[in-house]
Amino acid sequence: MPGNLYYVTSMTTHTAVLIPGDGIGPEVSEAVLSVLEAAKAPLRFETHHAGQTALDLKLGDTLPESTLAAIRQHHIALKGPCTTPVGKGFSSVNVALRRTLNLYAAVRPIRNMPGVKTRFDNVDLIIVRENTEGLYSGIENLITDGVVVSMKVATRVACHRIALWTFRYATHRKRTKISVFHKANIMKMSDGMLLDEARKVHKHDYPNIEYEEVIIDAAQMRMVQDPTQFDIVMCENLYGDICSDLCAGLVGGLGVTPGANIGDDDAVFEAVHGSAPDIAGKNLANPLALLMSSTMLLKHLADTRGDEESRRAGERIRRAYDRALQEGEKTRDIGGSLGTREFARAVSDRLED
Ligand code: ATP
Repeated sequence: MPGNLYYVTSMTTHTAVLIPGDGIGPEVSEAVLSVLEAAKAPLRFETHHAGQTALDLKLGDTLPESTLAAIRQHHIALKGPCTTPVGKGFSSVNVALRRTLNLYAAVRPIRNMPGVKTRFDNVDLIIVRENTEGLYSGIENLITDGVVVSMKVATRVACHRIALWTFRYATHRKRTKISVFHKANIMKMSDGMLLDEARKVHKHDYPNIEYEEVIIDAAQMRMVQDPTQFDIVMCENLYGDICSDLCAGLVGGLGVTPGANIGDDDAVFEAVHGSAPDIAGKNLANPLALLMSSTMLLKHLADTRGDEESRRAGERIRRAYDRALQEGEKTRDIGGSLGTREFARAVSDRLED
């Protein structure tokens, strides 16, 4: 089923897929579209569905082929959260999307936001998470009654790919240090292989970038003691997932943590938070994480397609939400009183020409 077209601006240059998602997804997506439109971002969106919403719309699958085809065609998507049932029901649409499209690098910038009071200042780190393997392979076998084995998959190809991508990314973003979080003292073969590949890439291709290896448990302790000591953190899938939420907590929570899933051909931008069914449909959700993800999308367009207008639109939006926060215009999760729509309006009102 072809999606509806949302024209964000008449000066359309790029087409992206919009997946509103479940729970708070549609309302935060709508808020983000309103800001993109006000900022005259050179984007037009084609709406497609996934998750519980796709089932409700009788599209026959939580990840319909038409949604995948649209992303493959346009290479860029902005995605709201999709519900994943715990312990039973369908498997994660988010994981399936990343695996099917081979979006192997999950990028999660963690930085202090103006006007959001937290324990630490000057936090500015980026988590790069391997997005296709590890325990997220979802291979679980019932060996006998009461005994289950979950497989942690690691391949040399994927370990090398994420290591190379992270060093390249660090260079491009003018970052100076990469810390690999691991548990190779216990998982000597799988985590050991990731370290092996990271060391090789460091030694042969990027010796000027500072490189360290930190055991994941000690790394979490160091992170909550002083997150400013980290610059880029690279880890396998599960550690990256846990570490992302922990780091989100250091800068104001899930409402302010954006993300991108990037592969060689396609990229899907989405907030770190889930569908938050407890606040869905109440105009309470913070749209900032998805809005920040949309500015990452614009920067990605600028970097990969050389479109400076996209970069300028993203920077305009960034300055506008920074100003809104500085002036105390915030949603409830970060200590304010605005609703989803009101916050979007506050940002749009602060857009400069
Ligand atoms: P899912 O099952 O899709 O993972 P979840 O509710 O279990 O959803 P999250 O959505 O990640 O997990 O969030 C946990 C809680 O954090 C939510 O119940 C909600 O109260 C809060 N939360 C998450 N995202 C936001 C947001 N954008 N704005 C405000 N509160 C949020």
